[in-house]
Amino acid sequence: EVAVLRLGHRPGRDERITTHVGLTARALGADRVILAGDGASRADTVEDITERFGGPFAVDTVESWRPTLREWEGSVVHLTMYGEEVQTVEGDIREAHRERREPLLVVVGAEKVPFDVYEKTDWNVGVTNQPHSEIASLAVFLDRLFEGRELDREWEDAEKVVVPQAVGKRVVDADEE
Ligand code: SAM
Repeated sequence: EVAVLRLGHRPGRDERITTHVGLTARALGADRVILAGDGASRADTVEDITERFGGPFAVDTVESWRPTLREWEGSVVHLTMYGEEVQTVEGDIREAHRERREPLLVVVGAEKVPFDVYEKTDWNVGVTNQPHSEIASLAVFLDRLFEGRELDREWEDAEKVVVPQAVGKRVVDADEE
């Protein structure tokens, strides 16, 4: 299992960002997003997309992220601009996840992440050591973790399917496919 834990959410300011963390986790191959604290308000939007465009993908909400992090039975990756380079550690992380079949928790922050998170994770991983965004770092990290295979994923129980077009938009009902 690969789960993404979104910690921190500033009401007002982070609404779309938290939604996009959830949508990116879903689209790029994670099994689940865990929205902590005020971020829970975005669960419906992410679930709505899963209902329309398929899954499986779970959205969980927790009051506080600390127990999730503390009690996680598997390995934990914290995405941070201060971490080790993704290209250096991705092999070790893949090995832990794939060969040892350890569930993987990928943690992304919003504002300043408390220092004990840095200490409690197995890997602090930077997607470059430049400041950017939790959505961008999650996307690159998941693509590296799955080595591109997530792009070919099949979706189950979708109502709608997008048919790729060179120009224009084509969306069909899943049973017409
Ligand atoms: N300055 C904050 C700090 O010191 O923790 C981080 C704010 S940043 C806008 C929000 C989140 O984006 C971070 O918690 C981290 O998960 C992610 N992020 C930003 N740049 C990153 C990078 N270069 N590599 C990995 N993750 C990054």
